[in-house]
Amino acid sequence: MAFTEHNVNGLIFDTADGLSAVGGIRHAFTTRLGGVSPAPCDSLNFFENHGDSVENVRENYRLLGEATGLDMSRAAGCRQIHSDRVRFLRAEDAGRLLYAERPYDADAMLTDVPGLPLVVYSADCCTILLYDPTCRCVGAIHAGWKGTALGIALKTLVAMMSAYGADPMTIRAAIGPSIGACCFETDADVPDAIRAELSESADRFIVRGEGGKYHVDLKQINRLWLLRGGLDPRNVEVHPDCTMCRPERYWSHRRMGARRGGQIAVIALEDEA
Ligand SMILES: [Zn+2]
Repeated sequence: MAFTEHNVNGLIFDTADGLSAVGGIRHAFTTRLGGVSPAPCDSLNFFENHGDSVENVRENYRLLGEATGLDMSRAAGCRQIHSDRVRFLRAEDAGRLLYAERPYDADAMLTDVPGLPLVVYSADCCTILLYDPTCRCVGAIHAGWKGTALGIALKTLVAMMSAYGADPMTIRAAIGPSIGACCFETDADVPDAIRAELSESADRFIVRGEGGKYHVDLKQINRLWLLRGGLDPRNVEVHPDCTMCRPERYWSHRRMGARRGGQIAVIALEDEA
């Protein structure tokens, strides 16, 4: 259970070994390293609405495509709204990647179309990639604390099962770098929202801090949702890095504010030979 760092001409991204081992897909969790964007988005940035130009962002996508073998000109995203909405993407959604082009308000996407990379954005929030090698479908989830509390991870799994016949016993999942419990200090609203759905089962991932604050482990709570959906714990990988603790490698909204870049998680089924 591990992640592997890749450095392709200075562009650095991670892959989840459990996803790579099955074959039939390409995927990546990006860092801030190896793109063309200037400060404050230096240098591998995928947000075009935080002070960077569309041209730089497009070039970063192109470089990522070169590095990963993903055809990023066909990639698609959604307008992320911290919801629990799941959308199915089809061939006609290919290429709808920049903010103004994205077809949906949603925070999770699923597809069974080969060669259609699904992209989710984050700068502290959890990103989750899903793959069922048996029925050949993939998913990508953006889960901030609201989506995490709402159980978007489980809702996406259920949609994957109902739409494509995905089998929880064969689905592989990877939760990418995001803010850790070390740095995600919250008021009572966050634990309250999580306990409203998961009851006491989430308590071991919520630690009472100083002055009435809490520290919440969003990655582990999303993992719990995936296990509630029937996934084999051996098939769920959790990236160890906290984005706020490592500003030299990741974008972090909590550390950097709004003027900063953003990273993505991306997954696509390979074209069948
Ligand atoms: Zn941290």
